[in-house]
Amino acid sequence: MILQENVDLRPYTTFGIKAAARYFTTLRSNEDVHSFLNSRLFLNGKHLILGGGSNMLFTGDYAGLVARMELKGIRVVDETQDHVTLYAAAGENWHDLVMYCVAHNYGGIENLSLIPGTTGAAPMQNIGAYGVEIKDVITSVEAVDKKSGEQRTFSNKDCAFGYRESIFKQEAKDQYLINGITLRLTKRNHVLHLQYGAIQETLNGMSIADPTIRDVSNAVIHIRQSKLPDPAKVGNAGSFFKNPSITVDAFQLLKEKYPSIPSYPSTEGLIKVPAGWLIEQCGWKGKRFENIGVHPNQALVLVNYGGGDGGKIWDLAMQIRDSVIDKFNITLHPEVNIVMQ
Ligand SMILES: Cc1cc2nc3c(=O)[nH]c(=O)nc-3n(C[C@H](O)[C@H](O)[C@H](O)COP(=O)(O)OP(=O)(O)OC[C@H]3O[C@@H](n4cnc5c(N)ncnc54)[C@H](O)[C@@H]3O)c2cc1C
Repeated sequence: MILQENVDLRPYTTFGIKAAARYFTTLRSNEDVHSFLNSRLFLNGKHLILGGGSNMLFTGDYAGLVARMELKGIRVVDETQDHVTLYAAAGENWHDLVMYCVAHNYGGIENLSLIPGTTGAAPMQNIGAYGVEIKDVITSVEAVDKKSGEQRTFSNKDCAFGYRESIFKQEAKDQYLINGITLRLTKRNHVLHLQYGAIQETLNGMSIADPTIRDVSNAVIHIRQSKLPDPAKVGNAGSFFKNPSITVDAFQLLKEKYPSIPSYPSTEGLIKVPAGWLIEQCGWKGKRFENIGVHPNQALVLVNYGGGDGGKIWDLAMQIRDSVIDKFNITLHPEVNIVMQ
């Protein structure tokens, strides 16, 4: 395990916020993981596991040890005529894994094309897009218990997946280092999910009547590139807040006041309301405050135009949250992981 000191984290997060890690290391092998978990710095100080840094906001410098997950490897674990079970190490880039599956005609994650970050972080918040969540294909999550060093396998059920949620953000928060996941994918008779967003419309525009999983992936990539700000051009961490779920009664009251309020069904009889719409109604869309702001096309995305301060982005997020409470009596919760100074 190679240890670096006072490392600028800007290249390691998509927000590109200026923050330094007091100590920094990369985990490239099981030996690195072992050394990390037994290191004096891990045992005596605070630490943080970093994937691609696409769901993180550092509000200032980090006084502990940051360990960047870089374990690599994809392999077939099991195969039948219809299905394949793949193991992917936690440090594999998620989109590269999707591209690998598309190239091998393995179906199931094509709608999750172009989501930034690592494979190991994907189960953390049960990544989802365009009607598919990773929980739909995941068979297990392999993780090391950070205290005992023991390897543990979590079944899909054990992971307690929910909307942008899993056991790793709840009961088991900070207890495990995920080192790999297994996915069960289709080899033929793929089940395509075309009903969400503009996928069908985009395929029509491409004159594709009988799409393959590659076509669906291409359509998703096309839609995402036209809708979402590219972190390589403007710093951001995707959706800053989760879409809130409210009771049917609360929704009816809001609907009387705001007839155009959009909604879609959520779990347990609740109604989900797009957080971006709520934020837009509060007048935040496109607002810029020096070098940070709210994206002009996506009110749910907070941006760093360059040189932005993480603490100021967090202050802005809290102002947005308060204004949504004042106007709609709905509390927004961050989807992004906030690392307080
Ligand atoms: C432009 C953009 C678009 C996005 N679109 C979507 C989308 O459509 N759907 C969606 O769900 N998300 C989306 N996201 C959010 C983000 O891409 C995902 O949450 C992604 O899974 C984060 O992966 P990461 O490797 O960057 O994790 P990081 O940001 O590095 O870490 C996220 C959390 O996971 C923990 N963690 C990371 N790796 C491990 C590990 N191996 N073991 C234990 N803990 C770990 C970290 O400590 C942290 O708490 C988007 C982000 C951006 C910037």
